[in-house]
Amino acid sequence: MLLLTPGPTPVPEDIRMAMSKPTLHHRTPEFEEIFAQTRVLLKELFGMPEVLMLSCSGTGAMEACVLNLCRAKALTINAGKFGERFGKICEAYGKEYTELKYDWDTPASVEEVVNAVKNDEKIDAVFIQVCESAGGLRHPVEAIAKELKKIRPNIMIVADGITAVGVEKVDTTNIDALISGSQKALMLPPGLALIGLSFEAIKVIEEGGVGYYLNLKTELKQQKKNTTAYTAATTLIIGLKAMLEKLHVEGFEKLYSDTKKRSDATKKALEALDLKIFPKTPANAMSAVYDEEAAKIRKILKTKYSVNMAGGQDHVKTTLFRINHMGLVADYETAWTLNAIEMALEEIGRRTYDGTANKIYTSEMYK
Ligand SMILES: *Cc1c(COP(=O)(O)O)cnc(C)c1O
Repeated sequence: MLLLTPGPTPVPEDIRMAMSKPTLHHRTPEFEEIFAQTRVLLKELFGMPEVLMLSCSGTGAMEACVLNLCRAKALTINAGKFGERFGKICEAYGKEYTELKYDWDTPASVEEVVNAVKNDEKIDAVFIQVCESAGGLRHPVEAIAKELKKIRPNIMIVADGITAVGVEKVDTTNIDALISGSQKALMLPPGLALIGLSFEAIKVIEEGGVGYYLNLKTELKQQKKNTTAYTAATTLIIGLKAMLEKLHVEGFEKLYSDTKKRSDATKKALEALDLKIFPKTPANAMSAVYDEEAAKIRKILKTKYSVNMAGGQDHVKTTLFRINHMGLVADYETAWTLNAIEMALEEIGRRTYDGTANKIYTSEMYK
């Protein structure tokens, strides 16, 4: 079965091999050396002065940021499942928050976010996705961050980049925390979350420090010394180091340009089949298609062509399918998937198969 869901993504064989070595103790110079090297590579990937590694899935890092970076009141941007989650975390902790809600295909408006902050003195942290994976939507997070810093320089801008880090170069100039997770663009098994931090965020954390396991002050203190507060996810970190070194050979820029090319070519091919790209501002991480028969198409791909694409969630559960572009996806895998979609469309009587999808995809990929 071809795993083409926007997370988890397949783990390449050489990385699986790197993680198959006998267990290392985490309180040893050997592991600290691995940890130190991983930190250097992560800082380069994030383009930020500090990066923390946490043993939890991405949501754990979202929760840690709500706890440690918002002191008074949060503004959360909800244009899908993951934006909604920031609000749910605030609720779980009884933290005051305001939510700006958008349709799942609609990016946040810079002006509306700025006004929401302007009109509420108490807001000291904003939480937003770079790519809202629920609809494959790219928010204008850099522009929002830039405008917010102009009107409230001390505000913390927390960007969930779980489907953006490793997909594209996120401009972190005005971002204080950038969140990532192991199982999306970084092509590792689930279980490791990462948070890139700005100097301002480091200051807020060092002056605060909230929670116990997710207390970033405790983690920061230890990780600066190349160790962790609690047992490190040693195997995943060994895999992460191997992955970053692998990507580093050709450079992260190459990964970004390959991902963009694949994403653009796929979207063109899908449109050539008269399929509708769902979000108004699509992200490069995935192609999300809105179609009344999405569930039917997805089922044919799974049962007949051995392709596992993702569907939608909630109100678009049966009307959305999402194709992953994150990580090192072989060209033939995307080509196979697009071809299968075209054949599925013939099967449900929507068009006559003539190879359009692959023709467009390959001409875009090799032009
Ligand atoms: C996958 C994802 C998450 C959640 O990560 P978990 O690892 O499942 O906790 C959060 N935000 C975005 C944008 C995601 O794509």
